[in-house]
Amino acid sequence: MQSAANNPPPRPIRTRFAPSPTGFMHLGHARTHLVAWLSARSTAGSIVLRIEDLDAPRVRPESEAAILADHAWLGLDWDEGPIRQSTRLTDYASALTTLVARRAVYPCTCSRKEIEAIASAPHGEEGPTYPGTCRSAPSHPGRPEAQRFRMDEPLPRFLDALAGRSPEGLGAGDFVVQRADGLFAYQLAVVVDDAAMGISHVVRGRDLFASTPRQLAIFTALGHEPPTYAHVPLVRGSDGERLAKRNGARALADYRARGVSAERVLGAVAWSLGIVETPSPIRAADLVAGFTLGTMRDARPPARDVVAELERE
Ligand code: GLU
Repeated sequence: MQSAANNPPPRPIRTRFAPSPTGFMHLGHARTHLVAWLSARSTAGSIVLRIEDLDAPRVRPESEAAILADHAWLGLDWDEGPIRQSTRLTDYASALTTLVARRAVYPCTCSRKEIEAIASAPHGEEGPTYPGTCRSAPSHPGRPEAQRFRMDEPLPRFLDALAGRSPEGLGAGDFVVQRADGLFAYQLAVVVDDAAMGISHVVRGRDLFASTPRQLAIFTALGHEPPTYAHVPLVRGSDGERLAKRNGARALADYRARGVSAERVLGAVAWSLGIVETPSPIRAADLVAGFTLGTMRDARPPARDVVAELERE
């Protein structure tokens, strides 16, 4: 048997924190960003902080500073950025020009209602599958045109570093990459950025799992090498449902204001992922040694209620 000392060092992981400045960080962000941070720090890799502020009406001016403060409090540092997506519009425009030239996208004049929610990351459902109305020609000539990506069969499948093999059929349906009002969609911006920033591993919440085939298809259409994806399970409320205000979600700043230490939050979060066996307070730096995504995947912790753990006196 080979001793650990003889193993080659792991390949450096380059990842990113990609918060949307539309609200405050809660436990789910803390948990996902801890995993991203550990992936990079345990491999002598690096982290880019990218502020996903394309959806201007949803951006809250106080949010970015709060996000930065929460990361500092948790001890989750980064190496580059913050880089704001709002400063990268020319890159998205030139990627779109490439997609148009390669006929990977087509103009779509379906109603605004259908394409409303596309600027933000679709957390959870991807919405109804687009029936392909404008594939051969715009259905309402004269209306302003959105650009829709042609999602041909076979759909891209992938091996997620945490969630395993993606199911068949995931990601079906053509999707908008630029709205008729010119706004670039999340799906396009995220791929252009992950490619430009040389991201090797996208570590993010499980709610974006279903977006991955779409992003892989854009990577291929642009001729870029796609990253590895690792989707971190979502934090659940004590009722087992997705964490929300009604089942106990608190902003990290709220824990801080109540005198809960960052170490206690990190300990509870790491315990809920099966990285450690007890929810004792711990610093992020003390979790680096021995961390790998593979070990975390295999730990398969029993349901551990991180929300209730942090409510204990
Ligand atoms: N900006 C997205 C969010 O706040 C994350 C996008 C991504 O990681 O791909 O959830």
